Amino acid sequence: MQTLVGGRSRRPRRIAMLSVHTSPLHQPGTGDAGGMNVYIVELAKRLAELNIEVEVFTRAVCSDDAPTVELAPGVLVRHVTAGPYEGLIKEDLPAQLCAFTHGVLRTEAGHRPGHYDLVHSHYWLSGQVGWLAAQRWGVPLVHTMHTMAKVKNAALAEGDSPEPPARVIGETQVVEAADRLIANTAEEAAELALHYAARPDQLAVVHPGVNLDVFRPGDQRGARSRLGLPQDAAVLLFAGRIQPLKAPDVLLRAVAVLLDREPGLRERLVVPIVGGPSGSGLAKPESLHKLAAELGIGDVVRFHPPVGQDRLADWYRAATALVMPSYSESFGLVALEAQACGTPVVAAAVGGLPVAVRDGVTGTLVAGHDPGDWARALKPYATEPGLVRDRGRAAARHAAEFGWGAAAAGTAEVYAGSLGRPAARLTGSRLRLA
Ligand code: UDP
Repeated sequence: MQTLVGGRSRRPRRIAMLSVHTSPLHQPGTGDAGGMNVYIVELAKRLAELNIEVEVFTRAVCSDDAPTVELAPGVLVRHVTAGPYEGLIKEDLPAQLCAFTHGVLRTEAGHRPGHYDLVHSHYWLSGQVGWLAAQRWGVPLVHTMHTMAKVKNAALAEGDSPEPPARVIGETQVVEAADRLIANTAEEAAELALHYAARPDQLAVVHPGVNLDVFRPGDQRGARSRLGLPQDAAVLLFAGRIQPLKAPDVLLRAVAVLLDREPGLRERLVVPIVGGPSGSGLAKPESLHKLAAELGIGDVVRFHPPVGQDRLADWYRAATALVMPSYSESFGLVALEAQACGTPVVAAAVGGLPVAVRDGVTGTLVAGHDPGDWARALKPYATEPGLVRDRGRAAARHAAEFGWGAAAAGTAEVYAGSLGRPAARLTGSRLRLA
C-alpha cells in the first residue's frame, strides 16, 4: 500500500515519536517500562535504518536526564520537563499533558517549519499530545494504543482495579483525531472498531517483532550454569511485569496443583519469576511471595529482579517453557522472545497471544484461568522432553518470521499512506475546533 505522491513514493524524513509516560531508555520489566519501551526502541532503530529520522519525546523523570540523548544513529530521545521529576505516577500524568505539549511545541518552534513530517504517538496519554501537535504542524497523526481501557476492564483479574472512565474518554478522542491507528493484530483492530468506533480506513495491522540477534537459540546447559539452575530441572519461567493483569499467581496456583498431582516432580521443578512490580501490583509487592509460601511451594519458586535483554535471553534458553497466564495482552512480546530462543510457550488464549503462539505446535494456548486446567497444560512440558524439544524447534522457526525489520517496513508504509492522504480528518477536526 505504498502511496505515490506526484509520481514518487513518499516517506517521512523525520518524525516526532511521543512516549509521554515511559522512556525508551528505561529498563523494561518493572514499573511503567515494558513491551512498549522495547517496541519504541526497536521500531525507532529500524525506521532510522530506513532513513526515517526519529525523535522520541518522553517526560524527564530525573534531574540527571540530559535534554537529549542519542539512542542510536538517527534516533534522538528528547526529555521534556512536565511536572516534578519524581513523585508522579502514571495516573497523575493527565494533569501534565499541557506542560508536556508545551515542551514539544517549543522544541519544534526552535526549528524551521516542517521539521517533523509526521507524529506517531504511543498510548493514549501521548495521543492527546499528538492530537494537538499534529494539528498545529499540519502533519498526520499515527497512533498506536498498546492497551485499551475498555479491553482491559472487560478482562480484569479478580480484585484488580478498573481503568477510569477519563481514560476511555481520552482514548476515544485520540481515535477520532488520528489519521491512522496501528494495531498489533487483526483482533486489536476489531476491538478498536467495536469499542472506539475506529473507521476501517484508519486501521492498519502491523505485527510487532522480536530482535532476532539478541533472542536466538543457544546452549541451554551454559545458560543454566550461568543462572545457577540445575541441569536436570523442569524450569517453568515467568518473565515480565508483576501485576494482577499478568496473572503470575495463576502460574503459582497451577504449580501447586501440579505438585499435588505429581509429587515426584518436586525435586526437579523450578519456577523463576523474573521482573518487578508494576501497576496495581505496586500496592502489594510482597503478595506473590506470600502466595508461594501459603501454597507451600516456596521451595520451587525463585524471584529475580528484572534483567537486561541479553540476560533475559539466557533465562529463556534455560527455561523448559515460558508461562504467560495473562488476563489481557495486546501482543505479549515475551512470548515471541522466548520462542525465538527455542523455548515453547504456554499462554492464555487472549489478545495477541494466539498470533504469537501456535497452539499445539510452538506451545499451548489455555482458555480461562483455572489452576487445574493450567496444571494439565503445564504437565507435558515438565515430563516429556521430546515434546519440549519439538515444540522448541517449531517455536524458533515461528518467531523467526517476526523480525523488527518487517514491523518497521509495515509502519513506514502506514506513514506513507497517511502522508498521501492527510487532509480529510485534519480538516474536519479543524472545522470542529474553529
Ligand atoms: N523485559 C526485560 N527484562 C525483564 C523482563 C521483561 O527486558 O526482566 C522485557 C521483555 O524483553 C519484553 C518486555 O519487557 O520485551 C515485556 O513486554 P510484553 O509485551 O511481554 O509485556 P508488557 O510489558 O508490554 O505488558
